[in-house]
Amino acid sequence: MLPVKQALTRAGVKRLDKISALDNSSDVTKHLPDDIPIALRDIPSVAPKPTVDRSMLMAGLTTLGAIALAAGILVAVQLQRSQQAQSSSTAVAANSAQSVTAANPTASPTSTTVNADTMLGHFRYAEATQSELSSVTADGSIKMRKAAAKAYQEMEAAAQQEGVSLVPLSGFRSLTDQDYLFFGKKAERGQVAAERAKVSAPPGYSEHHTGYALDIGDGAVPAMNLSPDFENTPAFKWLKVNAPFHSFELSFPKNNKQGVTYEPWHWRFVGDRASLETFYKARIKK
Ligand SMILES: [Zn+2]
Repeated sequence: MLPVKQALTRAGVKRLDKISALDNSSDVTKHLPDDIPIALRDIPSVAPKPTVDRSMLMAGLTTLGAIALAAGILVAVQLQRSQQAQSSSTAVAANSAQSVTAANPTASPTSTTVNADTMLGHFRYAEATQSELSSVTADGSIKMRKAAAKAYQEMEAAAQQEGVSLVPLSGFRSLTDQDYLFFGKKAERGQVAAERAKVSAPPGYSEHHTGYALDIGDGAVPAMNLSPDFENTPAFKWLKVNAPFHSFELSFPKNNKQGVTYEPWHWRFVGDRASLETFYKARIKK
């Protein structure tokens, strides 16, 4: 029996070899085991790096602290004493910060860690709170962030004036909603996680959590809703030309770098600073 750690590493290497060997073959997913455990295993291998650097830094700080202490004792001047007290309190503060991180490396990560975090090709997103949302439909069933909802409603009205019927299908989704969509549908269709991730984000990794994303249908051609054929509808053709004027863009165009299946119906609002930071900081940090 191999030690667990070694076995996992070997499995990871084998898997990478397989992927590169298969390259673009459509069979890739058939050869992949359930990807979630591997993706989860990847997280600790990335996360501890700053901790190592920090501990080296801390070792340096501690040494400096010791030197300062020795100097303080030798000279015994009041001013030096106060400086020594200051540096040691800094060291204590840094020390306690480090022990919190070490005790729970996954808790309260910095914004950098969150943005760089991906799973199965999807970025991690924070869930919008209810108070940040407002309705885009009369019955209140579909919600977006306030600025996005306003922009969408203006866009829908503009389309209507040109005889095009935009219909909101799905806006904000909670982690629970996405949990059902991802794990429920995956099991229902007998898909492994990697397959499912091509058409639906894992919970915690959907643009729908942000309140900026909206799935849009064509009221005149509902049969095309949420289908690749949506790109042939008047609604999509109108959106392609006009959405940028309303600060909406397609999240997953054809052959997107994220490797997510083309979704002509899935649009996101990028018309304010918060939404830009949500979507573009993640890409820069990747
Ligand atoms: Zn969507």
